[in-house]
Amino acid sequence: MTAQPTREEIKAKAEEIYPGVLRVAEVKGWGLNENKDIADSIVEGLARNVLLRGKKYCPCVLPSGDAEEDKKYICPCRNSDKDVEETGHCHCYLYMKK
Ligand code: SF4
Repeated sequence: MTAQPTREEIKAKAEEIYPGVLRVAEVKGWGLNENKDIADSIVEGLARNVLLRGKKYCPCVLPSGDAEEDKKYICPCRNSDKDVEETGHCHCYLYMKK
């Protein structure tokens, strides 16, 4: 079993992936949740999944472990365009419609 990443490792990885998260928002024309605590905790959830599972799997779902099946959960997930358009935010409330 993979060891759980430490708080420090998660924080460091979150900082590393943050520019990519911003780039996605830019390209898609979305904003990030203005509540920084929420946005940060989701980015940390993504970071934790990178450390634990090797990909930026959505922190709001539990991946099945089947890499092919779980591709749809890699952030920005397959439903994100539709969700942001229809509800104003992605499922996790990280990305918001402007
Ligand atoms: S719901 Fe989709 S877009 Fe939002 S954080 Fe999760 S994977 Fe990313």
